[in-house]
Amino acid sequence: MSTSQGSVVVVNCGSSSVKLALVDPVTGERSLSCLGERIGSPDAVVHMTTTGPDGRPSTRTITPAATTHRGALAHVLQRLLDLDLPPLLGVGHRVVQGGSVFHGSVRVDDRVLAQIHELSALAPLHNPANASGIEAARAVLPDLAHVAVFDTAFHQTMPETNYRYAVPTRWYEEFGVRRYGMHGTSHRYVSQRATEVLATAGREPRGLKLVVAHLGNGCSATAVLDGRSVDTTMGLTPLEGLVMGTRSGDLDPAVVELVAERTGAGVAEVVKQLNSESGLLALSGLSNDVRTLSEKAAEGHAGAKLALDVFVHRAAKHVAALTVSLGGLDALVLTGGIGENAKNVRSMLLARLAHLGLVEDPAANADHGRSSTPAGRITVPGDGPLAMVVPTDEELLIARDTVALVEHR
Ligand code: ADP
Repeated sequence: MSTSQGSVVVVNCGSSSVKLALVDPVTGERSLSCLGERIGSPDAVVHMTTTGPDGRPSTRTITPAATTHRGALAHVLQRLLDLDLPPLLGVGHRVVQGGSVFHGSVRVDDRVLAQIHELSALAPLHNPANASGIEAARAVLPDLAHVAVFDTAFHQTMPETNYRYAVPTRWYEEFGVRRYGMHGTSHRYVSQRATEVLATAGREPRGLKLVVAHLGNGCSATAVLDGRSVDTTMGLTPLEGLVMGTRSGDLDPAVVELVAERTGAGVAEVVKQLNSESGLLALSGLSNDVRTLSEKAAEGHAGAKLALDVFVHRAAKHVAALTVSLGGLDALVLTGGIGENAKNVRSMLLARLAHLGLVEDPAANADHGRSSTPAGRITVPGDGPLAMVVPTDEELLIARDTVALVEHR
């Protein structure tokens, strides 16, 4: 794959949203991107942005009449085929849960689709939506290869010591209760990029010990040794680990029983609140957006300050814990909307990790993203570990996996 000969349709079908992009697998350019919101409800809308030959974007909004995922996506894909587009090379689908079944990306056939449906038991919010996206796209684009790229697959290299919970064995054997990890596509892309960048700076990739912290609305950190995930903070579902925008992260499971008893809510309702009404939003009583929290904290808002402090403390604790799984640390790699943009959070995080030898270079950290600092480094040069910022691009990796599997055939 050295020259661009077309684009890949990258589909990310969530429970109430659909994201779709046409991605050039070589350059990473997007000739079209779509964001559908409130999908499955009567007021569903889809914003479709195309980039013309002059490089200028134009956005139009369409309202899919269909009130199901499948119907809405089919409608958007149909509209897409009416446009003047580069040749389509294949369709790459983001799938959240691949269980212990999928260790990498695969071409979708009826058997794979059935397995994705079966894995819905482990991801009831996500896999059914991902599967309906695949079904709709296969119906509209039957002649193209469809590829499933799993959020969990990168973490299938974790050793058993790191993925088992200390719970009754029957839960593991019969119900699949273990840690799977998520954000695998981002961790894989970012760790590959960091390895390339460090290699150009003379750091041998063999034995490289990275902790990748993906800090976005969802947050997770992964220990990557020699290019393979050996440990990660998310577990059976994306609820475990770091504090996130609206998710609690780590928690004593007894909290669920206590709150269910005190409020009369069912367990499912309490878990829903841990997913959507907790995290930065709950701690601050204000917002899940780090931009808002940073502004308000600077003005002295106690909730915003507490939320950021808890967020950073938990993230630092997990980064340090992951160095145990690596037996050391060469580089901490920050990515995601917060990792890439929130210099105040990066600075707070490094301050809490000073004992690992990470010393912030304030100018490099502040400058990051404006005049690109060498290799995205944000710590002072020295013999110890470094910290760097590497922007993630999950859609590009999905496009590349898709083309690789199409070419492989
Ligand atoms: P998602 O996980 O939904 O892909 P993102 O990776 O876009 O989310 O991350 C969203 C988070 O990034 C939000 O908390 C937002 O406040 C933060 N963020 C985005 N841009 C900035 C910025 N310029 N400065 C500080 N934080 C930012």
